Amino acid sequence: MATIFSRIVAGEIPSYKVAEDARFYAFLDINPLAKGHTLVIPKREVDYFFDLEDEEIAAMQVFAKKVAAAIKEAFPCIKVGQAVLGLEVPHAHIHLVPMQSEKDMLFTNPKLQLTPQEFKEIADRINACLAVD
Ligand code: 5GP
Repeated sequence: MATIFSRIVAGEIPSYKVAEDARFYAFLDINPLAKGHTLVIPKREVDYFFDLEDEEIAAMQVFAKKVAAAIKEAFPCIKVGQAVLGLEVPHAHIHLVPMQSEKDMLFTNPKLQLTPQEFKEIADRINACLAVD
């Protein structure tokens, strides 16, 4: 059965899309630690991040780098933090979280409650900051 993230990529489940190319997809985490918290996934379904092919991890990281730059521009922060957990959803993903302090990366923190309108505005703001190749 397809993972929930594959169903998001397929458009069967809605998401607030931030960026996409042929192989990767970036969208807002539905339980964000901070405004701009984004997930980057490969469209190819692989559970464990470190089971991805070497070249695939490298390309995914370059894709995430562009998304992180756009997040930082859209939501000024000290740095964009990156984390790989994958304990909840068995589809490899990178979390990108704008950080004002180290505490912003604590996944035990309470999550933000945002309205659909707020989610849409955040995704649009990040998307508008993406450099066009
Ligand atoms: P992890 O697998 O890294 O431990 O956590 C999975 C992350 O995916 C969580 O931060 C959770 O909020 C997010 N998530 C789970 N299901 C959905 C979903 O259907 N849509 C979105 N946008 N995020 C999800």
